[in-house]
Amino acid sequence: MKKLALHWKILLGMILGILFGLVMTNVSGGSTFVGNWIKPFGSIFVKLLKLIAVPLIIASLIKGISDLKDISKFKNIGLKTIAIYIGTTVIAITIGLLLVNVVQPGEGISEETIEKLTKTYANSGSVQAKIAEAAKQKNSSPLQFLVDMVPDNAMAAMSNNKAMLQVIFFAIFLGISMLLIGEKKSNPLKKFFDSLNEVVLKMVDLIMLFAPYAVFALLANVVVSSNDPDLLLALLKYALTVVFGLLLMVAFYMVIVSVFVKKNPFWFLSKISPAQLLAFSTSSSAATLPVTMERVEEHVGVDKEVSSFVLPVGATINMDGTSLYQAVAAVFIAQALGFDLTFADQLTIILTALLASIGSAAVPGAGMVMLVIVLEAVGFPADKLAIGLALIFAVDRPLDMCRTVINVTGDATVSTLVAKSVGKLGDPKPKNWDDHYDEVK
Ligand code: ASP
Repeated sequence: MKKLALHWKILLGMILGILFGLVMTNVSGGSTFVGNWIKPFGSIFVKLLKLIAVPLIIASLIKGISDLKDISKFKNIGLKTIAIYIGTTVIAITIGLLLVNVVQPGEGISEETIEKLTKTYANSGSVQAKIAEAAKQKNSSPLQFLVDMVPDNAMAAMSNNKAMLQVIFFAIFLGISMLLIGEKKSNPLKKFFDSLNEVVLKMVDLIMLFAPYAVFALLANVVVSSNDPDLLLALLKYALTVVFGLLLMVAFYMVIVSVFVKKNPFWFLSKISPAQLLAFSTSSSAATLPVTMERVEEHVGVDKEVSSFVLPVGATINMDGTSLYQAVAAVFIAQALGFDLTFADQLTIILTALLASIGSAAVPGAGMVMLVIVLEAVGFPADKLAIGLALIFAVDRPLDMCRTVINVTGDATVSTLVAKSVGKLGDPKPKNWDDHYDEVK
């Protein structure tokens, strides 16, 4: 097992996890066994990744900014990043809309299936919770997101994994102020964060030793808690439309890597593949962030000045997979329930799905909450919202896994592209977990 590359080990863990889950579904008491004795190991792994996310963002962002020779560079990177993120998201939504209009997956859904799905899910706690969550988000003022971005207590922000943008804000503020007091005075702090950054990256290496076993647990649990296969089959055309769209996004990223970054796209994908596999297994780009950062910096060669800003911001606001899914899902629901969408409605979907994907949290199932807002924007009747969500609920988890892979791949691609454009793409310098083990053992 030692010589196998990490992504193969993780893939093996995933396949074995799925097989184990399938066996356990057919054994009496199997699901409870997986829930009680296997799932906790997956949860521990996800918690470990989340544990190091805040220290990693702070250390690497402060190091990245304080390494800059002047602030205008940062402005350049920042503006480029936001513009490219918006561009790729609009492309993703457009691909989703084109596909769903051509394939029309909602047309073939029978009344009977709609009834069955409605009965099973419309009144379920999960669907109702998503609608309630969306209502909370919708009632805020248009500039609320800016207000939310500014923390009023740095410690409180750092102690809340959901306040990633606040942590980023604080780190950038601190980093810029360090630049302004000059190198001599800021040096002790800089050295501290440099060192913290190295340590946290080593923690990523150590956590990743556990990854193949953790994905086994995560996937076995997904399989035993999945829905009735008949329902999954009824939604196959819709699910395949989303998956096909997501694959087109991968092709799009590969074109970017080969044409603009001038690297072999297969090399790029193999370097970031552990992050993609984790995104698939955890359905959370926030939990995957430490691994994405480690892969992009050490294995692709993106300088920290770029990755430390582009990746955490991307994990929070850039969700190409989610926005593509929201476009397909919104039109699919409208088709299935016979709600006509005009061309103007489709344009509204582009705009709201863009804003919704920015507003979606980087955690499992968040995309569905913002889908409610997309549906409301095109005038979808409020009393039918629960039925609409019920239609897609059965396949949401597998699609969430797939769209999270695209969210993470998009962030990694854009960070490499931005690095290339500002001359900050160097040679990869991979580190092993045991580089200094001999000295301390
Ligand atoms: N799970 C996705 C992510 O973390 C968000 C979503 O689409 O639900 O990137």
